[in-house]
Amino acid sequence: MSEGKLVIFSAPSGAGKTTIVRHLLSLNLNFGFSVSATTRKPRGTEQNGKDYYFISTEEFRNKINRDEFLEWEEVYPGCFYGTLKSEVNRICKNGQNILFDVDVVGGSNIKKYYGEKALAVFIQPPSLIELENRLLARSTDCPEMIRERIAKAEHELTYVNLFDIIIINDQLENALQEAEVNVRKFLDKSPDWKNCK
Ligand code: ADP
Ligand code: 5GP
Repeated sequence: MSEGKLVIFSAPSGAGKTTIVRHLLSLNLNFGFSVSATTRKPRGTEQNGKDYYFISTEEFRNKINRDEFLEWEEVYPGCFYGTLKSEVNRICKNGQNILFDVDVVGGSNIKKYYGEKALAVFIQPPSLIELENRLLARSTDCPEMIRERIAKAEHELTYVNLFDIIIINDQLENALQEAEVNVRKFLDKSPDWKNCK
């Protein structure tokens, strides 16, 4: 079974990235999920340390100053998200492959950093209208937050060329299948390597 391989999933919020990532984590592909740090509040059933490390803005800034992030972004005004170097080490030392769920800027930065060692997958919604419908149906964000996410999505779609694979998430079953086939192919063909420091 492969280990130490990196797979990045990025998309505009609401495109279905988390749904697809959860599916991949449920398969027996030896993935560890890179738990990001964020300053936003938990929503729904999210758990600290499992979905995110929920930390204060002050703690986030301290981590930036201590150079603890592989990458970080102010994804929405006043709302910070970042990939911790310690997560890459933790998962790597566990002998697992690493799965990242990050925004499109973060995803393209991780891809630039690791090059061919990483598979970068862009999940595209069928349209902006459908994206809005999904965010409304998910009922986890207030109307202002949804407006903010839709406004951002248009710009995020221009990053698509920086990714290795684009999956249009129209029919969920097809998107899950396409994600699984491509990820299995990547895990099977690329050589194992170690990211642990
Ligand atoms: P993201 O992580 O990209 O923000 P989610 O995975 O949370 O997106 O999906 C947003 C919402 O859309 C969720 O309620 C999810 O169940 C739903 N969803 C995901 N894929 C599809 C699809 N192909 N068709 C319809 N609804 C979908
Ligand atoms: P949400 O608030 O919906 O969980 O996430 C909002 C956006 O932030 C999503 O696109 C998600 O992928 C992204 N995100 C989550 N973790 C990180 C991270 O560590 N770095 C970056 N750049 N974006 C992240």
